[in-house]
Amino acid sequence: MRVGFIGWRGMVGSVLRARMTEEGDWAGLEPVFFSTSSPGGPPPEAPGAAHAPPPLQDAFDLDVLRSCDVLVTCQGSSWTLQMHPALRGAGWQGVFIDAASALRMAPESTIVLDPINAPLIQRAMVAGKKDYIGGNCTVSLLLMGIGGLISSGLVRFVSTMTYQAASGGGARKMVELVRQMHDLGAAGVAVADTMGGLGVSEVVTQRMRAAEHPTSAIGSPLAANLLPWIDKPMPGGQSREEWKGQAESTRILDLDTPVPIDGIAVRVGSLRCHAQGVTIGLNRPAELSELEDIIRNTSPWTRLIDNTPDATRSQLTPAAVTGTLDVPVGRLRRLGTSPDHICLFTLGDQLLWGAAEPLRRMLTIWRTHAEG
Ligand code: NAP
Repeated sequence: MRVGFIGWRGMVGSVLRARMTEEGDWAGLEPVFFSTSSPGGPPPEAPGAAHAPPPLQDAFDLDVLRSCDVLVTCQGSSWTLQMHPALRGAGWQGVFIDAASALRMAPESTIVLDPINAPLIQRAMVAGKKDYIGGNCTVSLLLMGIGGLISSGLVRFVSTMTYQAASGGGARKMVELVRQMHDLGAAGVAVADTMGGLGVSEVVTQRMRAAEHPTSAIGSPLAANLLPWIDKPMPGGQSREEWKGQAESTRILDLDTPVPIDGIAVRVGSLRCHAQGVTIGLNRPAELSELEDIIRNTSPWTRLIDNTPDATRSQLTPAAVTGTLDVPVGRLRRLGTSPDHICLFTLGDQLLWGAAEPLRRMLTIWRTHAEG
């Protein structure tokens, strides 16, 4: 199977290649790597592949792209919007697996998150569908945590307040966050011994507002700050990131009647992992033990964390979860606002279950389907 990879050196593409190597997925593949910026350059390694990859191909060369049975792209929506219609218009019948949002709501697309919607993916393959798109990172992580609760019919509404890492915006933003941390850290440390806490906060705040503070990739200070707006504005005051919560969940779970999902999406200064504080309105005042059982059985990677200070601090943080496939769900308790309101906190590595892992698994699912 000849598989083309576009966007392989970005955040998602790098994690995808690492996971494919860990799982031995290159075996039997003929990989072709593409580049929008340096065609002709050396390709990355694909250990165990059936053929050594050729030099980097031009990601806008329709003929080379069309020679692939499957294209896996982590390049972003601009590339998809340009090249997907050109490929399909030229009669290409291959399988298109994409991390970008561009095609998620297209009628012929299936949003893939197989621990949650394997039957939907199977039905799509049998129906001859060829476009398989990874969900929004925060939505996929929400469903890996509480998709079972939503599907159970117990949930009347979900309000989710997110805490999203800088790497969710790509490699350049994450690198800039570290530069910001360095810039602020240097300014603060220089006066820490002489000016004390209040002095440090004044110096760091001045530095954050200075023209020299690096903001060209993120557009704003993020280190020692937060940004309660992600993506474009939508009608009604929502951001597009907030709009995706209900729109994509409904498609992933294949719900006839959408469960209302809304909240405020916030970019924070963590490096990796998207977290969310979730309020759920139940259809009836269920016992917490019933909800705990449903959460535990959501997926093999979903972990219920005791609502204690120690378990929360050691297991329910980006520091604990980064680089793992675990999706912990903790802080589960009844809210004081109503007997049928509960809250919980969940997070996961958005580069794994929120991006690369559903694509990697979709490639394997397709190979099994095509070979079987
Ligand atoms: P990214 O890191 O910005 O990489 C995208 C492309 O940018 C690369 O393939 C590369 O293309 C180019 N690039 C330019 N400068 C680069 C640098 N310094 N390092 C690496 N690559 C650089 O984007 P991403 O975060 O992987 O996202 C890819 C797609 O997945 C987007 O549509 C995004 O919305 C979606 N997504 C991302 C996440 C996430 O957590 N980041 C989660 C879910 C979905 P060339 O090699 O062709 O130059």
